[in-house]
Amino acid sequence: MSELAVKLSSDKDPNTIWKEFLSIIKENVPFITYHTWFLPIKPYELDGATLKIYVPNNFFIEWIEGHHNALINNIIHQVLGPEGKLVYIVLEEKESPDTDTPITQSSDSSVNHDNKQHSTVETYLNSRYTFENFIKGEGNQLARAAAIAVAENPGETSFNPLFIYGGVGLGKTHLIHAIGNKILEKQHFKKVIYVSSDVFTVEFVESIQNNTANEFANFYKSMDVLIIDDIQFLMGKEKTQDLFYNIFNTLHQSGKQIVLSSDKPPKDLKGLNERLISRFQWGLTVDIQPPDFETRIAILKNKSESYGFILPGNILEYIAHNITTNIRELEGCLIKLLANASLSSKQIDFELVKKTVKEISTTKRVDVSIDFITRVVCEFFAVDENKVREKNRRKEVVLARQTAMYLSKNLTNSSLKTIGLHFGGRDHSTVIHACNNIETLIEKDAQLREKINSIKSKIELSIS
Ligand code: ADP
Ligand code: MG
Repeated sequence: MSELAVKLSSDKDPNTIWKEFLSIIKENVPFITYHTWFLPIKPYELDGATLKIYVPNNFFIEWIEGHHNALINNIIHQVLGPEGKLVYIVLEEKESPDTDTPITQSSDSSVNHDNKQHSTVETYLNSRYTFENFIKGEGNQLARAAAIAVAENPGETSFNPLFIYGGVGLGKTHLIHAIGNKILEKQHFKKVIYVSSDVFTVEFVESIQNNTANEFANFYKSMDVLIIDDIQFLMGKEKTQDLFYNIFNTLHQSGKQIVLSSDKPPKDLKGLNERLISRFQWGLTVDIQPPDFETRIAILKNKSESYGFILPGNILEYIAHNITTNIRELEGCLIKLLANASLSSKQIDFELVKKTVKEISTTKRVDVSIDFITRVVCEFFAVDENKVREKNRRKEVVLARQTAMYLSKNLTNSSLKTIGLHFGGRDHSTVIHACNNIETLIEKDAQLREKINSIKSKIELSIS
């Protein structure tokens, strides 16, 4: 890196640098693109010539890299110098485990990827998830009230642990991040950490391999507030459960706050140790129900305005009538709609809304495991299941592996990191590459498209 570049970037804070990015972007892209894709991005930190930014979800990265790669590289060069790098940190829920797997873009346009490890200062909280932007509705009222009570007096209410459960995309991850953010807003000195239980498991296994399991446990035991997302992923993982039980007891006994989320209530967590289940019921268990019509409208209105759009009432109502069970899908629909409008520089008209809603509702996510997807794909392509998890480069194995990764991304809510782990510990960039590759292939190759569609129907049929 040139000395000038080092000096330039070290003199500035991430906000100033990101503002420079934005001002150049604004001059080079249509207004609607700027509002949809760039304004929602927030700077996180500047580390030498590396700027880390928060993007709402993977779709943003794909879109930005797909449409404005050259422009972004140019700006990286201009603003951060020849060795400048842009690291995307994905905020999305499913994504939340993704927050620790940033995607890097550097000015030589080689995209590289690195993994951050937990450090004592990193909270892994997503500052975008707050109580202020969490819309209250009948379905989440109780959970929200309990979360606020805990955030105001962590460890001091009888809500310890606070256990929030509910279906996919209903705001559990949002709410538990909001707790952590609120606590830190009022009490900076508190040690708060957010972790999803699959990341917790992976790190625990790594710590055993590195002989640092004690340090790992002590790290979590030293927290004031421990927030664990998707605790259902601990099912069947005996060793991790034992360790968690131990950490839980230490924290609880010393009046530290524990917050947990799950897709089902404690009693239904089969495969979880009874003693853990009974501990979960010590505090308060609250559920989140799907949003009612008014809440769906309020969420759509609020989100579209935060992207800089005001949508007419009939459009909001149409979406709210047709997407009913999942807030993530509501959001997804909105983003798609704005993207379509932005790509074709079209007004958002009713035809476009109908088309987008249809697309969203035909790609419904189902409750299916990555292992099951892999089995169906391998059966279809007549490939040995073990081979897709090994380093086998044979053409048919690669196709099966990439198809299974692609379908796992599209049919489950697993993070890219988790998907990678299921395929012999491959990293998330490999998964992105696989998904892009399959998408390109099915655009060109009608036969393959048919095949993949029929695998998809098979998977969906077997679980409905
Ligand atoms: P879950 O963890 O239950 O699967 P998330 O917390 O990831 O769901 O929510 C999915 C998306 O919907 C997130 O982007 C979140 O910000 C948004 N969301 C969920 N509930 C609300 C709400 N009540 N108000 C505003 N946004 C919400
Ligand atoms: Mg979640």
